[in-house]
Amino acid sequence: MWPRTLYDLARGAADLIFPPACLLCDAAEAEAAPFRHGFCSACRDALTADPAARCPKCAATVGPHTDLKGGCPACRGRGFGFDATVRLGPYDGSLRAAILKTKGSAGEPVAEMLGRTLAEARATELRALAATVVVPVPLHWRRRLTRGYNQAAAVADELAAALKLPLRPAWLVRTKPAEQHTQPSATARAVNIRGAFRVGRRASFAGASVLVVDDVMTTASTAAEAARMIRAAGASRVGVAVLARA
Ligand SMILES: [Zn+2]
Ligand SMILES: [Zn+2]
Repeated sequence: MWPRTLYDLARGAADLIFPPACLLCDAAEAEAAPFRHGFCSACRDALTADPAARCPKCAATVGPHTDLKGGCPACRGRGFGFDATVRLGPYDGSLRAAILKTKGSAGEPVAEMLGRTLAEARATELRALAATVVVPVPLHWRRRLTRGYNQAAAVADELAAALKLPLRPAWLVRTKPAEQHTQPSATARAVNIRGAFRVGRRASFAGASVLVVDDVMTTASTAAEAARMIRAAGASRVGVAVLARA
């Protein structure tokens, strides 16, 4: 099969010289071609283990006996515009360390392989969302310029490939950069993000079931604002997939 990602391409060349190594710890990578996963089996287990109960609506970790009807205590009564969230895990431990790596200069292959891991480890939950199209949460162009790529788009690309769905990164456009140097409260974040997106010129959301993809969900205001725009543009359903829920 043809290499799909930067990671696959780099591996194709590197395999001739070095045995594949884990992107996180330098141990040997767990498994073989055609499509690799980037991580050794210990790291993969750590990244995919998610034993805690979680809210099906916002993916927050909840106690084992929490009543989840209509959401968890954190999201019940909040109209998010999306009705389900799938996560790889909590924003903690190995997953947090891996996500921090995606923000570094050689971060793109890590983001890609985390996306691939999410697609495979949560395949059943992702399919249950019955999406018809995949849309990453966009980065503001200025931010993409400094980082070189959009992590959410790298993850979304892998999800779209695994689910055999069209990927439409241009359907949602970021018009306002994210707040960078502050740790705003949930309310402040919700206000900041208002009007941060617009629907792309060639978007066609009418009747679509949309899977919105982001790297980390913290207060859910970003995903909620994206979902609000997408619903306003006529989508019938919005589900969310994230690498991690803070
Ligand atoms: Zn490893
Ligand atoms: Zn919840």
